[in-house]
Amino acid sequence: MSDTSPQTRHTRVLIIGSGPAGYTAAVYASRAMLEPVLIQGIQPGGQLTITTEVENWPGETEIQGPDLMVNMEAHARAVGTEIIADYIASIDLSKRPFTAQSDSGMVYTADAVILCTGAQAKWLGLPSEEKFKGFGVSACATCDGFFYRGQEVVVIGGGNTAVEEALFLTNFASKVTLIHRRDTLRSEKILQDRLFKNPKVEILWNHSVDEVVGSEAPLGVEGVKARHVDTGEVTEVPCKGFFVAIGHAPASELVKDQLETHMGGYVVTKPDSTATSIPGVFAAGDLTDHIYRQAVTSAGMGCMAALEAEKFLAEDES
Ligand code: NAP
Repeated sequence: MSDTSPQTRHTRVLIIGSGPAGYTAAVYASRAMLEPVLIQGIQPGGQLTITTEVENWPGETEIQGPDLMVNMEAHARAVGTEIIADYIASIDLSKRPFTAQSDSGMVYTADAVILCTGAQAKWLGLPSEEKFKGFGVSACATCDGFFYRGQEVVVIGGGNTAVEEALFLTNFASKVTLIHRRDTLRSEKILQDRLFKNPKVEILWNHSVDEVVGSEAPLGVEGVKARHVDTGEVTEVPCKGFFVAIGHAPASELVKDQLETHMGGYVVTKPDSTATSIPGVFAAGDLTDHIYRQAVTSAGMGCMAALEAEKFLAEDES
Protein backbone atom coordinates (compact mmCIF):
# COMPACT_ATOMS: atom_id res chain seq x y z
CA MET A 1 0.00 0.00 0.00
CA SER A 2 1.45 3.40 -0.95
CA ASP A 3 2.08 6.00 1.77
CA THR A 4 -0.26 8.96 1.21
CA SER A 5 0.75 10.92 4.33
CA PRO A 6 2.14 14.37 3.47
CA GLN A 7 5.87 14.93 3.49
CA THR A 8 7.01 17.26 6.25
CA ARG A 9 9.99 19.55 6.15
CA HIS A 10 11.22 21.39 9.26
CA THR A 11 13.26 24.58 9.20
CA ARG A 12 14.25 27.10 11.87
CA VAL A 13 13.22 30.04 9.70
CA LEU A 14 10.63 29.84 6.95
CA ILE A 15 10.57 32.86 4.64
CA ILE A 16 7.43 33.18 2.54
CA GLY A 17 7.79 35.42 -0.50
CA SER A 18 10.54 36.27 -2.95
CA GLY A 19 10.58 40.05 -3.40
CA PRO A 20 13.29 42.33 -2.01
CA ALA A 21 12.06 41.72 1.57
CA GLY A 22 12.17 37.93 1.24
CA TYR A 23 15.57 37.71 -0.46
CA THR A 24 17.15 40.20 1.95
CA ALA A 25 15.75 38.30 4.93
CA ALA A 26 17.20 35.15 3.35
CA VAL A 27 20.67 36.67 2.95
CA TYR A 28 20.76 37.82 6.58
CA ALA A 29 19.25 34.63 8.00
CA SER A 30 21.66 32.47 5.99
CA ARG A 31 24.66 34.49 7.16
CA ALA A 32 23.39 34.04 10.73
CA MET A 33 23.62 30.26 10.07
CA LEU A 34 19.88 29.81 10.52
CA GLU A 35 19.64 27.73 7.32
CA PRO A 36 16.41 29.37 6.16
CA VAL A 37 14.04 27.93 3.60
CA LEU A 38 12.46 30.48 1.24
CA ILE A 39 9.23 29.67 -0.58
CA GLN A 40 9.01 31.75 -3.73
CA GLY A 41 5.26 31.85 -4.32
CA ILE A 42 3.38 32.22 -7.58
CA GLN A 43 5.44 35.12 -8.92
CA PRO A 44 9.11 34.45 -8.11
CA GLY A 45 10.83 37.81 -7.68
CA GLY A 46 7.56 39.61 -7.00
CA GLN A 47 6.36 42.91 -8.39
CA LEU A 48 9.76 44.03 -9.68
CA THR A 49 9.68 41.23 -12.23
CA ILE A 50 6.86 43.04 -14.03
CA THR A 51 8.52 46.46 -14.10
CA THR A 52 11.14 47.81 -16.46
CA GLU A 53 13.88 50.26 -15.40
CA VAL A 54 14.54 50.67 -11.70
CA GLU A 55 16.41 53.91 -11.10
CA ASN A 56 16.33 54.17 -7.33
CA TRP A 57 18.10 51.05 -6.17
CA PRO A 58 21.30 52.37 -4.57
CA GLY A 59 24.41 51.31 -6.42
CA GLU A 60 22.62 50.86 -9.75
CA THR A 61 21.96 54.02 -11.72
CA GLU A 62 19.61 51.94 -13.82
CA ILE A 63 18.78 48.24 -13.73
CA GLN A 64 15.89 46.26 -15.16
CA GLY A 65 13.52 45.05 -12.41
CA PRO A 66 13.72 41.37 -13.49
CA ASP A 67 17.55 41.53 -13.55
CA LEU A 68 17.62 42.99 -10.05
CA MET A 69 15.49 40.12 -8.79
CA VAL A 70 17.65 37.52 -10.56
CA ASN A 71 20.67 39.08 -8.79
CA MET A 72 18.90 38.99 -5.42
CA GLU A 73 17.92 35.35 -5.85
CA ALA A 74 21.48 34.43 -6.86
CA HIS A 75 22.81 36.28 -3.81
CA ALA A 76 20.44 34.44 -1.47
CA ARG A 77 21.43 31.09 -3.02
CA ALA A 78 25.14 31.90 -2.87
CA VAL A 79 24.99 32.40 0.90
CA GLY A 80 23.21 29.08 1.34
CA THR A 81 19.46 29.77 1.32
CA GLU A 82 17.35 26.87 0.17
CA ILE A 83 14.96 28.41 -2.34
CA ILE A 84 11.89 26.38 -3.22
CA ALA A 85 9.45 27.03 -6.07
CA ASP A 86 6.26 26.34 -4.17
CA TYR A 87 3.16 28.19 -2.96
CA ILE A 88 1.96 28.28 0.63
CA ALA A 89 -1.80 27.73 0.53
CA SER A 90 -2.47 27.93 4.27
CA ILE A 91 -0.59 28.44 7.50
CA ASP A 92 -1.32 27.66 11.14
CA LEU A 93 0.25 30.25 13.43
CA SER A 94 -1.68 29.15 16.53
CA LYS A 95 1.14 27.01 17.93
CA ARG A 96 4.81 26.36 17.44
CA PRO A 97 6.30 24.96 15.37
CA PHE A 98 4.21 26.92 12.87
CA THR A 99 2.81 24.73 10.08
CA ALA A 100 2.45 25.73 6.45
CA GLN A 101 0.65 23.65 3.84
CA SER A 102 1.93 24.03 0.31
CA ASP A 103 0.44 23.45 -3.11
CA SER A 104 3.07 20.78 -3.81
CA GLY A 105 1.75 18.74 -0.89
CA MET A 106 4.81 19.42 1.29
CA VAL A 107 4.08 20.55 4.85
CA TYR A 108 6.65 23.01 6.15
CA THR A 109 7.12 23.43 9.89
CA ALA A 110 9.15 26.30 11.30
CA ASP A 111 10.32 27.76 14.60
CA ALA A 112 10.02 31.26 13.17
CA VAL A 113 8.27 32.63 10.09
CA ILE A 114 9.10 35.74 8.07
CA LEU A 115 6.14 36.80 5.96
CA CYS A 116 7.13 38.71 2.81
CA THR A 117 4.14 38.07 0.56
CA GLY A 118 4.07 41.63 -0.79
CA ALA A 119 1.14 43.25 -2.51
CA GLN A 120 -0.98 42.79 -5.60
CA ALA A 121 -2.51 45.22 -8.08
CA LYS A 122 -5.87 46.75 -7.20
CA TRP A 123 -8.76 46.79 -9.65
CA LEU A 124 -11.55 49.32 -10.08
CA GLY A 125 -14.18 46.71 -9.33
CA LEU A 126 -16.36 47.36 -12.40
CA PRO A 127 -18.30 44.44 -13.92
CA SER A 128 -17.11 45.51 -17.39
CA GLU A 129 -13.48 45.52 -16.17
CA GLU A 130 -13.95 41.95 -15.02
CA LYS A 131 -15.58 40.98 -18.31
CA PHE A 132 -12.67 42.24 -20.43
CA LYS A 133 -9.80 41.12 -18.17
CA GLY A 134 -7.35 39.39 -20.46
CA PHE A 135 -9.24 40.73 -23.50
CA GLY A 136 -7.92 44.29 -23.43
CA VAL A 137 -8.03 45.02 -19.69
CA SER A 138 -4.74 44.53 -17.87
CA ALA A 139 -2.89 45.60 -14.73
CA CYS A 140 0.57 45.01 -16.20
CA ALA A 141 1.90 47.09 -19.08
CA THR A 142 5.22 45.26 -19.12
CA CYS A 143 3.38 41.95 -19.52
CA ASP A 144 0.80 43.02 -22.10
CA GLY A 145 2.00 46.31 -23.66
CA PHE A 146 3.50 44.53 -26.65
CA PHE A 147 0.01 43.51 -27.87
CA TYR A 148 -0.93 47.15 -28.47
CA ARG A 149 1.65 48.04 -31.08
CA GLY A 150 0.33 50.98 -33.14
CA GLN A 151 -2.93 51.14 -31.16
CA GLU A 152 -4.47 53.55 -28.68
CA VAL A 153 -4.42 52.66 -24.99
CA VAL A 154 -5.69 54.18 -21.75
CA VAL A 155 -4.03 54.05 -18.33
CA ILE A 156 -5.89 54.98 -15.15
CA GLY A 157 -4.09 56.19 -12.02
CA GLY A 158 -1.84 59.00 -10.86
CA GLY A 159 0.96 57.33 -8.90
CA ASN A 160 4.39 56.07 -9.91
CA THR A 161 2.97 52.85 -11.31
CA ALA A 162 0.50 54.65 -13.61
CA VAL A 163 3.11 57.07 -14.92
CA GLU A 164 5.70 54.34 -15.44
CA GLU A 165 3.14 52.16 -17.22
CA ALA A 166 2.03 55.06 -19.42
CA LEU A 167 5.64 55.87 -20.36
CA PHE A 168 6.40 52.22 -21.06
CA LEU A 169 3.32 51.92 -23.28
CA THR A 170 4.52 54.83 -25.47
CA ASN A 171 7.11 52.33 -26.79
CA PHE A 172 4.30 50.42 -28.52
CA ALA A 173 1.05 52.38 -28.64
CA SER A 174 0.22 55.17 -31.09
CA LYS A 175 -1.37 57.17 -28.27
CA VAL A 176 -1.55 56.81 -24.49
CA THR A 177 -4.29 58.59 -22.56
CA LEU A 178 -3.70 58.81 -18.82
CA ILE A 179 -6.92 59.28 -16.89
CA HIS A 180 -6.56 60.62 -13.36
CA ARG A 181 -9.27 61.56 -10.87
CA ARG A 182 -7.49 64.74 -9.69
CA ASP A 183 -5.59 67.57 -11.36
CA THR A 184 -2.17 66.65 -9.97
CA LEU A 185 -0.21 63.42 -10.05
CA ARG A 186 1.28 61.87 -6.96
CA SER A 187 4.17 60.24 -8.82
CA GLU A 188 7.81 61.35 -8.54
CA LYS A 189 8.50 64.68 -10.26
CA ILE A 190 11.16 63.20 -12.55
CA LEU A 191 8.58 60.76 -13.95
CA GLN A 192 5.96 63.49 -14.33
CA ASP A 193 8.48 65.53 -16.29
CA ARG A 194 9.06 62.68 -18.72
CA LEU A 195 5.33 62.10 -19.06
CA PHE A 196 4.47 65.73 -19.79
CA LYS A 197 7.23 65.90 -22.42
CA ASN A 198 6.14 62.75 -24.25
CA PRO A 199 4.22 63.69 -27.44
CA LYS A 200 2.27 60.39 -27.44
CA VAL A 201 0.74 61.11 -24.03
CA GLU A 202 -2.50 62.93 -23.38
CA ILE A 203 -3.81 63.43 -19.84
CA LEU A 204 -7.47 63.52 -18.96
CA TRP A 205 -7.54 65.25 -15.59
CA ASN A 206 -10.37 65.05 -13.04
CA HIS A 207 -11.95 61.96 -14.58
CA SER A 208 -12.86 58.54 -13.28
CA VAL A 209 -13.74 55.52 -15.40
CA ASP A 210 -17.31 54.25 -15.20
CA GLU A 211 -17.29 51.49 -17.76
CA VAL A 212 -15.14 49.59 -20.21
CA VAL A 213 -16.89 49.16 -23.56
CA GLY A 214 -16.09 46.66 -26.27
CA SER A 215 -17.09 44.06 -28.79
CA GLU A 216 -18.63 40.69 -27.98
CA ALA A 217 -17.36 38.43 -30.73
CA PRO A 218 -14.46 38.44 -30.53
CA LEU A 219 -14.41 39.84 -26.99
CA GLY A 220 -12.27 42.99 -27.04
CA VAL A 221 -12.03 46.50 -25.64
CA GLU A 222 -13.09 49.42 -27.83
CA GLY A 223 -12.96 52.24 -25.30
CA VAL A 224 -13.75 53.50 -21.82
CA LYS A 225 -16.43 55.82 -20.52
CA ALA A 226 -14.76 58.52 -18.45
CA ARG A 227 -16.78 60.79 -16.18
CA HIS A 228 -15.73 64.27 -15.11
CA VAL A 229 -15.64 64.16 -11.31
CA ASP A 230 -17.18 67.66 -10.94
CA THR A 231 -19.55 68.08 -13.90
CA GLY A 232 -20.51 64.41 -14.35
CA GLU A 233 -20.05 64.80 -18.11
CA VAL A 234 -19.17 61.48 -19.76
CA THR A 235 -16.54 61.23 -22.50
CA GLU A 236 -15.88 58.04 -24.40
CA VAL A 237 -12.17 57.53 -24.94
CA PRO A 238 -11.45 55.01 -27.71
CA CYS A 239 -8.76 52.43 -26.93
CA LYS A 240 -7.85 48.81 -27.54
CA GLY A 241 -6.08 48.39 -24.22
CA PHE A 242 -7.10 49.62 -20.77
CA PHE A 243 -4.42 49.46 -18.06
CA VAL A 244 -5.46 49.76 -14.43
CA ALA A 245 -2.67 51.23 -12.27
CA ILE A 246 -4.44 52.48 -9.16
CA GLY A 247 -2.16 51.07 -6.50
CA HIS A 248 -1.66 47.85 -4.69
CA ALA A 249 -3.27 45.96 -1.83
CA PRO A 250 -1.30 43.83 0.65
CA ALA A 251 -1.30 40.09 -0.03
CA SER A 252 -2.41 39.20 3.50
CA GLU A 253 -5.07 36.60 2.64
CA LEU A 254 -2.90 33.85 4.14
CA VAL A 255 -2.72 35.42 7.61
CA LYS A 256 -5.50 38.01 7.88
CA ASP A 257 -7.57 35.88 10.26
CA GLN A 258 -4.62 35.12 12.53
CA LEU A 259 -2.63 38.35 12.70
CA GLU A 260 -3.67 41.87 13.52
CA THR A 261 -4.13 43.91 10.33
CA HIS A 262 -5.14 47.51 9.60
CA MET A 263 -5.60 50.03 6.79
CA GLY A 264 -7.25 47.53 4.45
CA GLY A 265 -5.26 44.41 5.27
CA TYR A 266 -1.69 45.52 6.05
CA VAL A 267 -0.17 43.33 8.76
CA VAL A 268 0.47 45.33 11.93
CA THR A 269 4.02 45.22 13.28
CA LYS A 270 5.34 46.58 16.56
CA PRO A 271 6.90 50.09 16.41
CA ASP A 272 10.45 50.04 14.98
CA SER A 273 10.14 46.28 14.51
CA THR A 274 8.88 43.61 12.13
CA ALA A 275 7.38 41.59 15.02
CA THR A 276 3.68 40.84 14.49
CA SER A 277 1.02 40.09 17.11
CA ILE A 278 2.32 36.49 17.34
CA PRO A 279 5.80 35.91 18.85
CA GLY A 280 8.08 34.28 16.28
CA VAL A 281 6.13 35.62 13.29
CA PHE A 282 7.67 38.60 11.50
CA ALA A 283 6.38 40.59 8.54
CA ALA A 284 8.38 42.69 6.10
CA GLY A 285 7.88 44.66 2.90
CA ASP A 286 4.64 45.64 1.16
CA LEU A 287 2.63 43.22 3.29
CA THR A 288 3.09 45.55 6.23
CA ASP A 289 4.23 48.89 4.77
CA HIS A 290 1.39 51.21 3.78
CA ILE A 291 3.63 54.27 3.61
CA TYR A 292 6.88 53.82 1.64
CA ARG A 293 6.42 50.64 -0.44
CA GLN A 294 9.80 50.90 -2.11
CA ALA A 295 12.13 48.05 -3.06
CA VAL A 296 14.81 49.51 -0.82
CA THR A 297 12.54 49.93 2.21
CA SER A 298 11.25 46.37 1.71
CA ALA A 299 14.81 45.11 1.65
CA GLY A 300 15.52 47.06 4.85
CA MET A 301 12.56 45.45 6.54
CA GLY A 302 13.68 42.01 5.34
CA CYS A 303 17.01 42.64 7.05
CA MET A 304 15.26 43.72 10.27
CA ALA A 305 13.03 40.64 10.20
CA ALA A 306 15.98 38.25 9.88
CA LEU A 307 17.87 39.97 12.71
CA GLU A 308 14.76 39.86 14.89
CA ALA A 309 14.10 36.21 14.06
CA GLU A 310 17.69 35.37 14.99
CA LYS A 311 17.31 37.12 18.36
CA PHE A 312 13.94 35.47 18.96
CA LEU A 313 15.34 31.99 18.28
CA ALA A 314 18.43 32.59 20.40
CA GLU A 315 16.31 33.70 23.36
CA ASP A 316 13.84 30.89 22.79
CA GLU A 317 16.53 28.24 22.66
CA SER A 318 18.51 29.44 25.67
P1 NAP B 1 -0.23 54.80 -5.38
O1 NAP B 1 1.00 55.62 -5.19
O2 NAP B 1 -1.04 54.41 -4.19
O3 NAP B 1 -1.15 55.55 -6.43
C1 NAP B 1 -2.39 55.05 -6.80
C2 NAP B 1 -3.02 56.06 -7.76
O4 NAP B 1 -4.25 55.52 -8.22
C3 NAP B 1 -3.30 57.40 -7.11
O5 NAP B 1 -2.98 58.42 -8.01
C4 NAP B 1 -4.80 57.33 -6.82
O6 NAP B 1 -5.43 58.58 -6.93
C5 NAP B 1 -5.31 56.45 -7.93
N1 NAP B 1 -6.48 55.68 -7.53
C6 NAP B 1 -6.62 54.88 -6.44
N2 NAP B 1 -7.84 54.31 -6.44
C7 NAP B 1 -8.47 54.76 -7.55
C8 NAP B 1 -9.75 54.51 -8.09
N3 NAP B 1 -10.62 53.68 -7.52
N4 NAP B 1 -10.08 55.14 -9.25
C9 NAP B 1 -9.20 55.97 -9.85
N5 NAP B 1 -7.96 56.23 -9.39
C10 NAP B 1 -7.61 55.62 -8.25
O7 NAP B 1 0.09 53.39 -6.09
P2 NAP B 1 1.27 52.98 -7.08
O8 NAP B 1 1.45 53.98 -8.13
O9 NAP B 1 0.98 51.58 -7.48
O10 NAP B 1 2.53 52.99 -6.16
C11 NAP B 1 2.53 52.19 -4.97
C12 NAP B 1 3.84 52.43 -4.23
O11 NAP B 1 4.90 51.87 -4.98
C13 NAP B 1 4.16 53.91 -4.05
O12 NAP B 1 4.77 54.10 -2.80
C14 NAP B 1 5.12 54.19 -5.15
O13 NAP B 1 6.02 55.23 -4.86
C15 NAP B 1 5.85 52.85 -5.27
N6 NAP B 1 6.38 52.70 -6.62
C16 NAP B 1 7.62 53.21 -6.85
C17 NAP B 1 8.14 53.15 -8.10
C18 NAP B 1 9.48 53.77 -8.33
O14 NAP B 1 10.09 54.21 -7.37
N7 NAP B 1 9.98 53.82 -9.52
C19 NAP B 1 7.44 52.55 -9.14
C20 NAP B 1 6.16 52.04 -8.89
C21 NAP B 1 5.65 52.13 -7.62
P3 NAP B 1 -5.12 59.79 -5.89
O15 NAP B 1 -3.80 60.33 -6.30
O16 NAP B 1 -6.26 60.70 -6.11
O17 NAP B 1 -5.13 59.14 -4.54
